[in-house]
Amino acid sequence: MFSLAGRATRKYKNYIGGKWVASKGGLLRSSNPATGERVAEAQNSTEDDVRSAIDAAREAFDRGGWPRKRPHEKALVLRMVAELLRKNLESLSILLTLENGKPKADSKGELLNAANVFDYYATATRHIVGKIPRYGPTDTSLVVYEPVGVCGLIVPWNSPISLLSWKLGAALAAGCTTVVKPSEYTPGITMEFAKLLASIEELPDGAVNVVTGPGETVGSELVKNGKVDKVSFTGSTETGKRIMQMASANLKKINLECGGKSANIIFDDANLAGALDGAVWSIFRSAGQSCNAGSRLLIQDTIYNDFMKRFLRRVSKIRIGNGLDPKTEIGPLISEKQLDRVLGYIESGKREGAKLAAGGKRMTDGELRRGFFVQPTVFEEVGVSMKVFQEEIFGPVLCVLPFHDEDQAIELANATRFGLAGDLWSRNLIRIMKVSQGVRTGTIWVNRHLNPGPEVPFGGFKQSGIGRETGIEGLMEYLETKHISLQLTDSFERVRR
Ligand code: NAD
Repeated sequence: MFSLAGRATRKYKNYIGGKWVASKGGLLRSSNPATGERVAEAQNSTEDDVRSAIDAAREAFDRGGWPRKRPHEKALVLRMVAELLRKNLESLSILLTLENGKPKADSKGELLNAANVFDYYATATRHIVGKIPRYGPTDTSLVVYEPVGVCGLIVPWNSPISLLSWKLGAALAAGCTTVVKPSEYTPGITMEFAKLLASIEELPDGAVNVVTGPGETVGSELVKNGKVDKVSFTGSTETGKRIMQMASANLKKINLECGGKSANIIFDDANLAGALDGAVWSIFRSAGQSCNAGSRLLIQDTIYNDFMKRFLRRVSKIRIGNGLDPKTEIGPLISEKQLDRVLGYIESGKREGAKLAAGGKRMTDGELRRGFFVQPTVFEEVGVSMKVFQEEIFGPVLCVLPFHDEDQAIELANATRFGLAGDLWSRNLIRIMKVSQGVRTGTIWVNRHLNPGPEVPFGGFKQSGIGRETGIEGLMEYLETKHISLQLTDSFERVRR
């Protein structure tokens, strides 16, 4: 019923220097993870294609118009991007759901979030203002912020447009030029977005280039190439480590937004109805394929049994299916590889002695057999050393543990190598302050899940990453600080230090 039949496969070339360019590397195909049907054909680019894109971005930075635009001119373009996203919301959300599998309402939410980010950076670009300290009547300094240069933006598939907006919005606001590399799984939606960018006459050719293809070729060329000044990467911690190694060869600046294993801590004084909905949404949204998924649920022992009874009842009612069905709450996993990985983790949880309280299997009834659907899965009696507790599964798999008091909640929350985010449910302010400061993550959401807007920063402690995105902190990542020291007399004064 929610099939692709009648929708032609979309075909895309790379977008380089303002032109649509075919690669000699053949085609990269994406398919609908709910049905297996072909969605898009893009370019399976080679290193040569990436080098052309880098040259275009380099030329646009060194001699082109974008870095030299005035703040209000950059703001105008960024606002146009936001407007185009909103104007094309319906068709883009269908394509995003077809390629990524997430429910269409979530796709719309993602695209509106991206529009909001471009709007935010349209304002922020007008606030890039330096400082002028004064040392004496004829002795002063200018501290100015300059764009970092050519930026390689490497993006995953799970929220391909909003995660791109975090990077591209900030990079363009700073005056950088860019080469975008989307995930192999979501080239169609990214190239459709590139078409919107190409329609903006005020955005000079070469300021944004988009090249599709594999991480090992397209992605690594962006990281290794000496003409790229900075790489901003979102993806797994393992790929992040490889990127850091490659970037060290020329000391390239890097931002790494990597994996997570967030704890969702529920105290007995919380609004439990809200906490219950929050816990379900936090882990099972996007079928658990979210960097900030609350994949470890920690419940205070005084309410553990009652809460779990209600939680498991709610989990059993989650509606799983094709994202184009308006009733669907959870879509499929992105690929067969991801399906095997998630099922492998479920087996390891069982092998290591965790108790399977819900789910645990691939879903193959009716239409679901064509896609990569996994039941929402819940493990209880989980040990801290178990793989399901320690590793990012990136699927609908939850570990639940009881805790006794605030100190034990903090200790459990901090017991992995990740430090991306976390949720905390309580109405006791002293407790909220103690726990949110004790948990070593870049974000803590108290009685909510996800950021209220792009004004605030997001990023990881520990092995969840380096740097921040969104907010002014996200903008500063694309700016270099320069100090110009001025002695406005003819005499020379020796400074000793
Ligand atoms: P991935 O690491 O496999 O790929 C991410 C991107 O890197 C893709 O575009 C891929 O092609 C590219 N890539 C792969 N190998 C590369 C290489 N050697 N050199 C350069 N680029 C390379 O991750 P994924 O499966 O696409 O995404 C899921 C991961 O992303 C999860 O770990 C998730 O936690 C993480 N993530 C983090 C955040 C965050 O903000 N911290 C947000 C979303 C997703």
